[in-house]
Amino acid sequence: MEPLHQLTIRQAADGLRDGKFTSLQLTEACLERMRSVDGHVHAVLEALEASALEAAKASDARRAAGGALGALDGIPLMVKDNMQMKGSRTTAGSKILEGYKSPFDATAVARLAAAGAVILGKANLDEFAMGSSTETSAYGPTRNPWSLGKIPGGSSGGSAAALAAGMCLGALGSDTGGSIRQPAAMCGVTGFKPTYGRVSRYGLLSMASSLDQIGPFARTAEDAALILEAIEGEDPLDSTSASRARYAAPRLPSEGLKGLRVGLPKEFFAEGMDDGVRARVEEAAKEIERLGAELVEVSLPSAERALAVYYVLMPCEVSANLSRYDGMRFGLSVDAPGLKETYFETRGQGFGREVRRRIMLGAHALSSGYYEAYYLQAQKVRAKMKAEFDALMRDVDLLLSPTSPSVAWDLGEKFDDPIAMYLTDIYTVTVNVVGAPAVSVPCGFANDLPVGLQLIGKAFDDALVLETARRYQGATEWHLKRPML
Ligand code: GLN
Repeated sequence: MEPLHQLTIRQAADGLRDGKFTSLQLTEACLERMRSVDGHVHAVLEALEASALEAAKASDARRAAGGALGALDGIPLMVKDNMQMKGSRTTAGSKILEGYKSPFDATAVARLAAAGAVILGKANLDEFAMGSSTETSAYGPTRNPWSLGKIPGGSSGGSAAALAAGMCLGALGSDTGGSIRQPAAMCGVTGFKPTYGRVSRYGLLSMASSLDQIGPFARTAEDAALILEAIEGEDPLDSTSASRARYAAPRLPSEGLKGLRVGLPKEFFAEGMDDGVRARVEEAAKEIERLGAELVEVSLPSAERALAVYYVLMPCEVSANLSRYDGMRFGLSVDAPGLKETYFETRGQGFGREVRRRIMLGAHALSSGYYEAYYLQAQKVRAKMKAEFDALMRDVDLLLSPTSPSVAWDLGEKFDDPIAMYLTDIYTVTVNVVGAPAVSVPCGFANDLPVGLQLIGKAFDDALVLETARRYQGATEWHLKRPML
């Protein structure tokens, strides 16, 4: 058997059920792994050892009394540090929340706990989830477990790297423009962005509310579905959470992918992607065809506008959402002679460069005289994109593309070039703009670094996306590779 910290959730749940090991042993194995490798990876901002060990013991006691809860009972998971968890420090990777302690649980975190999961710690991220490399964290970058000189992707780089390095069996991330799928691709794990509204955002520190969505990282699509089932569903505390959000079995034959129509949007295979990425994704498409699916070339012309739309709408919402950090209510408060000065000093010192850049862009785009030219215009294009996407998805069941145009790049390589960084989000942002579900699964290596395959579904077809990914993984072994660390 693999070491405990390398098991899938399914394997661990079976082992716990059969009494092969306890949740306490599983949790200790992950904590031990964290102690031995996180000095190199820096995936974890706060380890919650004491509460994790307590939760593990409680799970073992429940099981011994015949009251085990389900597949997640006793399973050690990590949570991205932009989600509230009572008693933990929630920093969102920002200095402005230094010292802030959560007074309540995010709904997704509360639901994990209610399912018996053991929360091991809070994972590093780009500041307020703004970035694609985890380098904008005020607490220092996370490193890619496959190659410590490379970025782990972002913004949920801590969650992805912790899982890839064996510090947990699964994790929560948030995805506003790719922040679950892209780091999953870079770190060689599975990452799933649910349909907008499927998972409650209550207690997620908002970045761009119309795009943000919480979702799972796991070693397999099957495990990701187990986490999704625990956290999804309507929540009276989030008015955008959807009522039709229960996990249902997808319409597929008992085996293979016969009857499935998979579209390859030609805009996603244009110039600008690395040769190695293209080769791996084309091989993955062939594998999906071999399993019985029909591949068709399709076109989504508005995808070419996606980055422009995203990088207008997102900063507008960022500038509104982050206005709450004023030095009066939470976290950092810099002493200054007057109220205005306190705002300026606190926000100037508390926010990093990338966050300030986006607040300024958003405030400008929303200001009188520019609102119509930027924000309103972007909303109109968004509506067109959604209509075009919905029409296309009446013809096919899924879309297939790379997750990212390249594998992980060197730490520092794009840090001072925001446009180059934004361009790497080219294949992921469309999904958020239209509110669809999408998964990234490992599909091989280029230059010894993991490549991610993206599968996109129609809204609320999350189960079909994950089940297709599961069957792909049933026929391939890329998701079983672990970094030598
Ligand atoms: N990389 C994108 C950005 O910088 C996406 C971030 C995210 O999904 N949170 O905005």
